[in-house]
Amino acid sequence: MTRPSPAAALNGVQVGHICDRCSRGIRTGDKAVAYATYYEDDGWLIRRLMCDCGSRTIGLPTDGADEVLVKAVYWRGRLVGVTTVDRSRP
Ligand SMILES: [Zn+2]
Repeated sequence: MTRPSPAAALNGVQVGHICDRCSRGIRTGDKAVAYATYYEDDGWLIRRLMCDCGSRTIGLPTDGADEVLVKAVYWRGRLVGVTTVDRSRP
């Protein structure tokens, strides 16, 4: 079964507005970076939201999970213009 593209699945998804790394507020129009994991039942779920302070690579993969790092623009509580930056699986 083919998994949906993370960038497509996460485009328009609702997120918080506080950076999980530096606690800075993210405002509409700001760039944001999000880390998401794929779950068989729920699909792509955002686990961390960051402003542009964060890393652009996943780093060490977790337990073989399908993980992705995307960049986007934060717009009124949602992520828009999502593109994949790094992914733990090809
Ligand atoms: Zn930050």
